Amino acid sequence: MKYPISIQRTTHSKIDSVDFENLPFGKIFSDHMFLADYHDGKWQNFRITPFGNLSMHPATMGLHYGQIVWEGMKSYKSPKDIPLLFRPDQNAHRFTKSATRMAMPPFPEDAFIQAIQTLVELDKNWIPTRKGYSLYIRPIMYATDEYIGVRSSETYTMMIFTSPVGNYYSGAVKLWATDKYVRAFEGGTGFTKTSGNYGAALCAATEARKMGYDQCLWMDGVHHKYIHESGTMNVFMQLGDTIITPELSETILDGVTRKSLITLLRDRGLKVEERSITIDEVVEAYDSGNLHEMFGSGTAATIAPVSHLLYRDKEMVLKKVEERPLWESLKTELQSIQWGILPDRHNWIISTSDTLASV
Ligand SMILES: *Cc1c(COP(=O)(O)O)cnc(C)c1O
Repeated sequence: MKYPISIQRTTHSKIDSVDFENLPFGKIFSDHMFLADYHDGKWQNFRITPFGNLSMHPATMGLHYGQIVWEGMKSYKSPKDIPLLFRPDQNAHRFTKSATRMAMPPFPEDAFIQAIQTLVELDKNWIPTRKGYSLYIRPIMYATDEYIGVRSSETYTMMIFTSPVGNYYSGAVKLWATDKYVRAFEGGTGFTKTSGNYGAALCAATEARKMGYDQCLWMDGVHHKYIHESGTMNVFMQLGDTIITPELSETILDGVTRKSLITLLRDRGLKVEERSITIDEVVEAYDSGNLHEMFGSGTAATIAPVSHLLYRDKEMVLKKVEERPLWESLKTELQSIQWGILPDRHNWIISTSDTLASV
């Protein structure tokens, strides 16, 4: 289904002021954004406008009670200069799940994909071509009723904007397996990208940084020992010859990178298990020399190898990243598919036109 989207182009492109060879993460924004409004029970007024500030009523409900959900994905340019999107249907579907959990109206998944295709096509000159760089896409929906009673809003705004980005982490990451803070619990919102999840985690991340670590490794809130994930990454660990990632549940974000890596690992004939794993099992494997690999996976970071893991007062130092071939070869394979260099054997890639990209 095709949704009508009105387009108002900018008359002041900022593109010439951007150094595309030296991009930070998430600080530079492209020329246009997509907007849509929800009122009277339906999504309407689909439009692309020049990127700019919003004007908000002080009682805008999303600001107060956190009815806000978002997504994160990337566009890459193929060797033939075609803008590519990686599994946007997965993000569209997760956005629906997040919105539903937050009592928000789902945005039609086909409109989500069409809006992104249209926006990225319009700003395709903003897709960096430097290796490892990409155009980050941020869809976000928030409650807009002007009301300070606590209830679900009746109006919402959907917005999508893009940001040409460099690397998220510059190297390997050091994790603190914290049993002091908890990110997610059964019955909660851990499986959604809702803003409160991230705000609530910041204090723990700040404490981790003070201790010399980059991020927390989250564990469950009841036993404080079952591993969930880290920051905005799912985690994988290789114990012996088996690659383990915690199984999905309400407490874990269903990462697109995670599910893609599981497929790629199984394609290689490697043994992958999605199952519960405790920090004790990891410590034991480390002590017996069986913890061969640990890495995080997510759109922003792609794959980030873990170099250090702190649990209570035990610091585990993993093998030097140069001596661990798995994460790097996986990252290369995934990125080569995303960049249209390797054949897209699982039909993960679409271009900004409706047809499958010829890569
Ligand atoms: C976004 C996110 C991930 C990774 O998901 P991808 O779809 O791979 O980007 C993992 N954990 C959390 C908490 C996240 O917010």
